Amino acid sequence: MIVAIDGSAASGKGTLAKRLATHLGLSHLDTGALYRAVGLQLLKAGQDSKNINENQCVKSCVELDIALTTSPLIRSEKVAEMASIVAAMPAVRAALLDLQRQFAATPPDPKGAILDGRDIGTVVLPHADFKFFIDANICTRAERRTKELLQAGQSVMFRDVLTDMQERDSRDRFRSVAPLRPADDAISIDTSSMDADDVLALALSYITP
Ligand code: C5P
Repeated sequence: MIVAIDGSAASGKGTLAKRLATHLGLSHLDTGALYRAVGLQLLKAGQDSKNINENQCVKSCVELDIALTTSPLIRSEKVAEMASIVAAMPAVRAALLDLQRQFAATPPDPKGAILDGRDIGTVVLPHADFKFFIDANICTRAERRTKELLQAGQSVMFRDVLTDMQERDSRDRFRSVAPLRPADDAISIDTSSMDADDVLALALSYITP
């Protein structure tokens, strides 16, 4: 079984993906972590998000240190910003496409895979068995992200998180390649007034064996 989950930042798509994976015995790939790892690698190499070299970004994808995808350092707002800037480059997306498709084709768990991101149902896995599009209003999402970052020991303010999220949302939604949008056959869930248990139960109600 292949499940595609797309959605905006802090919409709850990652939590849903992890919980569905555990519940259904599927392997999970957080594709945002790939873009974040590329962003972190570039920042570590001294690249500046305002003056970025596309060839350098592609090189960073090809030479990606996959261990970075599990580093807590990828969870900062600075890395998120860099990730969304490089993610708008067609060559970067092309360089990361095979890795994502290969994971879905041969997941560590033979029962199948869940991938979450921005373009899984529309570009990476258009033939997924189930597709979800997760969203919530921006203030709720910014509140959730602020809480998460504070809990992780980062010093952030709601207002700054909200501004960063608005900028990142518009880059992700309006870029020319693989913009954030629901696939025509995706089930949309607005999590603004739902908790993680409600979202899991609703998603499961659509999944038939
Ligand atoms: O999901 P997360 O917020 O960690 O993703 C970080 C950034 O990576 C997003 O803002 C987006 O620009 C990019 N991304 C993407 N396509 C994906 C996953 C993430 O463009 N499939």
